[in-house]
Amino acid sequence: MALNEDDFKKVIAHAKEYGFVFPSSEIYDGLSAVYDYGQQGAALKNNIKEYWWKAMVQLHDNIVGIDSAIFMHPTTWKASGHVDAFNDPLIDNKDSKKRYRADVLIEDYVAKLEAKIDKEVEKAAKRFGESFDKEQFLSTNARVLEYQQQGQSILQRMGASLSSENLADVKALIEELEIVCPVSGSKNWTDVKQFNLMFGTKLGASADSAMDLYLRPETAQGIFVNFLNVQKTGRMKIPFGIAQIGKAFRNEIVARQFIFRQREFEQMEMQFFIAPGTQQTWYEHWKEQRMKWHLSLGLGANNYRFHDHEKLAHYADAAADIEFKFPFGFKELEGIHSRTDFDLGSHEKFSGKKLQYFDHERNESYVPYVVETSVGVDRMFLAVFSNALCEEQLDNDTTRTVLRLPAVLAPTKAAILPLVKKDGLPEMAQEIVDQLKWEFAVAYDEKDAVGRRYRRQDALGTPFCITVDHQSLEDRTVTLRHRDSMEQTRVAIQDLSQLIGAEVNMQHWLQKIQ
Ligand code: ATP
Repeated sequence: MALNEDDFKKVIAHAKEYGFVFPSSEIYDGLSAVYDYGQQGAALKNNIKEYWWKAMVQLHDNIVGIDSAIFMHPTTWKASGHVDAFNDPLIDNKDSKKRYRADVLIEDYVAKLEAKIDKEVEKAAKRFGESFDKEQFLSTNARVLEYQQQGQSILQRMGASLSSENLADVKALIEELEIVCPVSGSKNWTDVKQFNLMFGTKLGASADSAMDLYLRPETAQGIFVNFLNVQKTGRMKIPFGIAQIGKAFRNEIVARQFIFRQREFEQMEMQFFIAPGTQQTWYEHWKEQRMKWHLSLGLGANNYRFHDHEKLAHYADAAADIEFKFPFGFKELEGIHSRTDFDLGSHEKFSGKKLQYFDHERNESYVPYVVETSVGVDRMFLAVFSNALCEEQLDNDTTRTVLRLPAVLAPTKAAILPLVKKDGLPEMAQEIVDQLKWEFAVAYDEKDAVGRRYRRQDALGTPFCITVDHQSLEDRTVTLRHRDSMEQTRVAIQDLSQLIGAEVNMQHWLQKIQ
């Protein structure tokens, strides 16, 4: 059974116990909302990045990848709007002294209304049985309609107040909804204030000549400032994309929920440069493409949904999130934004350099429009990892913990296990390791009884175990055990590469997208 919210702690504990994610600098009691990836985690993360890079760069002849610096000229962040507008509205509870994002408190309130709708649906489904029509119920039931209406009007009002910087109204809304602090239970709130999320630092040795810099809060700007460099040197013709994977830093007000919201994290972003007027088509195209990429991993279509933004960022004319059902509910996994010509236009103004493209077909120069896709590596990691962790009841009344990772992303594809540590079995197992390691990440394990070794590999998400026994010495066959079904088959050593490859090779998985 998949884990629910109450079991989120198990996800965190499992990630630590099996070498996936550790708190940063743990010997000094950790650093809030900063995490390190261990030996298993780093491998899983690299596989996620490779899966994205291949889908976006390798499989598109009009998308190229770059790797720009984390430090950028400080004017970049003036031009992008981050110095003036990259703020979150924060509010403190005077009794608990806890700090919250005002918009998150309100969104959580609306999420509770949605949960009430789900309850009504559940009750009605039970009552009506087979004849239950969910769509009809959602569009006609008076109570459901009232909850929906209430939720929409709250979000609309919040969106309008935030856009017009009317922070007093955001506070008024929190008070009217009688939202209480989850810790103190009180409604004793401070005023709402804006808080800039960028980390500042200094470049240069002496105090007076040092330049104030920011750690980049997104990788996108490294792409925009290189637009002409790439377009010219790569002889790129519109429409084309520039992709990048890299670290980003945000001084998040409320950093919670493990690696979901960190102060240092990684993004996989692609900016697609297009002709003005074509943005609606490309925006729809990339929404669809990116959803297909997610679905190709097989985590279940019910776990994803689109959320169209009510409140648009200063640069966007349309925006949607792909939300994933994390153990704590549906939350943003990826953002798809139609960014207009805001970024390039603004960099033109601030730098005084022309950032235009001459379109031979239209016979005119213009500042290209941009559609962006932006997904967090760490959120992908959490989605895949929490979805995979299961506790299974077995026939013999025991349970097993198994990490049902998509085989293509699993840190280790196969573990090779000699049944016993003697009689030449370890040597033969080692020979198989040496044969397979060129193609797949494999592990060798000879410690403990074989049953315990299977359990350990299940917990690590290894799709295959290969066991070498005495018969192997005679006929060069081994048992191949599948993680999910626990089925064991006798196969020839020479067929291993093909059998494993059929399930783990990226090509098979990526082909599902097209
Ligand atoms: P949120 O509303 O959850 O703060 P956002 O809308 O600010 O996210 P974007 O600016 O659209 O996020 O960033 C693109 C992607 O980067 C997000 O979809 C998410 O996957 C990832 N991301 C953003 N902030 C964080 C963070 N603090 N920790 C981990 N990943 C993040």
